[in-house]
Amino acid sequence: MNPGVAVEVTGVRRAFGPNLVLNGFELSAAPGEFVAVVGRSGSGKSTLLRLLAGLDRPDGGAVRVDGSTLDGLCPVARVVFQDGRLLPWLRVGPNVALGLPANGRERANEMLARVGLADRAADWPAVLSGGQRQRVALARALAGDPRLLLLDEPLGSLDALTRIEMQRLIEDLWSTGRFTTVLITHDVDEAVTLADRVVLIAAGRVTGEWPVPLPRPRRRDDPAFGPLVRTI
Ligand code: ADP
Ligand code: MG
Repeated sequence: MNPGVAVEVTGVRRAFGPNLVLNGFELSAAPGEFVAVVGRSGSGKSTLLRLLAGLDRPDGGAVRVDGSTLDGLCPVARVVFQDGRLLPWLRVGPNVALGLPANGRERANEMLARVGLADRAADWPAVLSGGQRQRVALARALAGDPRLLLLDEPLGSLDALTRIEMQRLIEDLWSTGRFTTVLITHDVDEAVTLADRVVLIAAGRVTGEWPVPLPRPRRRDDPAFGPLVRTI
């Protein structure tokens, strides 16, 4: 298993015509960290995720993965989208093996077993439930042994019980895999349950963070410290 990568998003700007979607967005993730980005629908979360995956480029600022600015598709990232995006003309096994080298079939079966769907490799995606399709999408993303897993509302279309099952599965896979994970969601509960750190996005920038970062301890000789005793 490969270790996770460091991710650094600095001052990122992305506009679609007059619509300034990201405006000085900042995000960092340490190798192996699980970070969630929470925001309302339309706040620019999927736009951010596409930039992290290298599916899109920022108009300003930088997206660095493992210290280098992305140039095209991020080679160490895999994405799970809200709707899974399985290819309907391929059975489950080949969907998971997609893009893998020659021995991909074995790896695909291994990953299907990890998500509890070992016996569904020969089924068409259409006969699976929504939750099963998302598990297949997760298996496909992890089959490539990514160092960065990008999750775009992967539980958004699932019922409450299936969502809890998927949360447990994501937690389990992440804690054994130690890949860096960025989860994008509008669900604060989900973000707080899964992530080490939660960043709030609104109006194109970070508007909050949980847990609240502790202020840097101030030294007495720091000019920002101010006088110990104020004279009136
Ligand atoms: P979220 O994922 O938080 O719901 P998105 O990142 O999908 O939000 O979208 C943020 C805003 O950017 C929306 O106003 C959306 O219409 C706009 N947008 C996203 N992608 C495009 C695009 N390719 N072309 C034009 N507008 C876009
Ligand atoms: Mg979205």
